[in-house]
Amino acid sequence: MTISNADEATRMTDVDAVLSRLSAIRKGYINDPYTELFVGRLSRSQQLPRPPVINRGTHIRTYAIDNIIEQFLSQTSRAQIISLGSGSDTRFWRCSDDARIAKYIEIDFDEVTSKKIMHIRKSDSLSARLGEQVSVEAGGSKLVSPRYTLLPADLRSVDIGAIIAPYAELSAPTLVLSECVFVYMPLEASDRILTYFGRAFEDIMVLVYEMASVDDQFGQIMLRNLKARGVELPGMSAYDGHRFTSAGFAISDAKNLEYLRNQLVTPQEKDRIAKLEFLDEVEELSLILRHYTLSWGIKSTKKTINVHV
Ligand code: SAM
Repeated sequence: MTISNADEATRMTDVDAVLSRLSAIRKGYINDPYTELFVGRLSRSQQLPRPPVINRGTHIRTYAIDNIIEQFLSQTSRAQIISLGSGSDTRFWRCSDDARIAKYIEIDFDEVTSKKIMHIRKSDSLSARLGEQVSVEAGGSKLVSPRYTLLPADLRSVDIGAIIAPYAELSAPTLVLSECVFVYMPLEASDRILTYFGRAFEDIMVLVYEMASVDDQFGQIMLRNLKARGVELPGMSAYDGHRFTSAGFAISDAKNLEYLRNQLVTPQEKDRIAKLEFLDEVEELSLILRHYTLSWGIKSTKKTINVHV
């Protein structure tokens, strides 16, 4: 497989992610009116709905990340969020009424950002939310507005500081989100990115969500399925807190999704979810959840950022 085919397979993982989200939204797990607007008609007709066990996993992942981002936002003001490999993620649009978020920057391959910008321009309601001062540059792959910026880049090779610096504020409380992205790039590349954020910013939390364990039969099956689709996982690694601390973060921790479900999802939410559709594979869900990890590193010179789980 050539490099560009492998890159295309990596980009296509976004289609998979957005379809899983759409399935969970349509079943009532997640409230998100925006994802529909980012899914092409052809993709939409495929592979939906997803099985209940996948819908549950998507819900728990979204719920846990939302919860931790809310903890970050509740301790800060005039925050900025930087989403790496943001794909078709709609978190900016879901949070677009939240005045605590001053800036939201997304980065992905130019093929992915161009598609996203096309969907934004096609939708009056999305365009209206960006206001008047919007410029689309770099052949339609870059969008700049006062609050929302979408940047095209290959995160493996780009000088991350150089592309972010014109848009980000180094002293503002910053949350960097990397959701299912680092696994597709060599560890040296994600280390370089972590080191940039850990050194350049004053108050920062990096939140990384990944599949981080393949050392049993179930993990091996997941890995084989991805390989069969041409997806390479050069950045696969168990959580290593040292990665964050040597990159300049003072605190680091990690929890798997099963733990986060048990700790964070409220009894009311568990009841609501249980009524949406019947789940036979309770054990399988736990097994899947144990393979996914949310890890974070925090550097907070003003001692304002903390996470409780
Ligand atoms: N973060 C989104 C989410 O959780 O819904 C998308 C996840 S998708 C599985 C992975 C995304 O990372 C894709 O959009 C892909 O294009 C992007 N990505 C992977 N490697 C990248 C790289 N080297 N440079 C830029 N984007 C990359």
